[in-house]
Amino acid sequence: MPRNSKRVTSFVVLILLLASIHVYPQNQKFGIVIHGGAGTILKKDMSPEKEKEYTEKLTEALEAGYKILESGGSSLDAVEQAIRIMEDSPLFNAGKGAVFTNAGTNELDASIMDGKTLAAGAVAGIKHVKNPITLARKVMENSPHVMMTGEGAETFAKKQNLEIVDQSYFFTKERWESLQKAKQEEKLKEKHGTVGAVAIDIYGNISAGTSTGGMTNKKWGRVGDSPIIGAGTYANNNTCGVSATGHGEYFIRLGAAKDVSALMEYKGMSLASAAEEVIFKKLTELGGTGGVVALDKDLNVAMIFNTEGMFRGYYLSGCEPVVKIYKE
Ligand code: ASP
Repeated sequence: MPRNSKRVTSFVVLILLLASIHVYPQNQKFGIVIHGGAGTILKKDMSPEKEKEYTEKLTEALEAGYKILESGGSSLDAVEQAIRIMEDSPLFNAGKGAVFTNAGTNELDASIMDGKTLAAGAVAGIKHVKNPITLARKVMENSPHVMMTGEGAETFAKKQNLEIVDQSYFFTKERWESLQKAKQEEKLKEKHGTVGAVAIDIYGNISAGTSTGGMTNKKWGRVGDSPIIGAGTYANNNTCGVSATGHGEYFIRLGAAKDVSALMEYKGMSLASAAEEVIFKKLTELGGTGGVVALDKDLNVAMIFNTEGMFRGYYLSGCEPVVKIYKE
């Protein structure tokens, strides 16, 4: 090779090396915040064993998300993975532990949003997909749509080679008994346990996701806030990511998740003030119950709820994981 072209080659290699260093800003902060549902969660009603089970599962989900972020993975991967772990656990009202509808079936909802591009995917009324959060992500990435429902969504799930399960997979004794009780009282029951996650990766990209079985004794194809972008889930790199849990009808009417972001964007509010305004003021005044977890671009965390408790936790770069259950 002539000397000149050797020099050009070394120069190109050097530029590529520098460019790759730029692509991986390893010192950037990252973190994840999750919830496992809000509601009447009281220490006096919880056995030490159950409390331990919840704490361990929430920690496992946080650690899985953190590991992905620490190794340079995307916030979308972290959110999806953390939620899948909670979906696979019977402890939460999502995936395996989903509540029952009035008809005795399980109908699952989920959504995910990418704060970098504002791309989003959602599914509602799913009966046979083991991990609805992964189906929501497939809708976002492999289809021209944002939301799919029922049988159509399940046909798409099969085409995407997702794991399909029989309805019996979702049976848990506790949730079945809750349905019998709710039927006796003829009430639509809020059963805590919806799961959600928000993460920011080392590239500064924020993602949020939520997954649920909805509300015990729901009828007529009722869909809550969890699969509705702007109500139960929202993410925007310029503001924050939000995942909600609680009485979905109220979160839909408020456009709650987007409202937290909008208060930051239009009013210049901090993440904590914006989340408090939506939960303590707007939701409470409307008569709704529930909470949100949220994370902003500066790694501030908010975990705000107006119920007795919310399964929740966060794990930020350079810190230890934190898990909480009750109101403080
Ligand atoms: N928000 C969910 C729904 O209304 C339920 C929950 O978070 O507990 O479907």
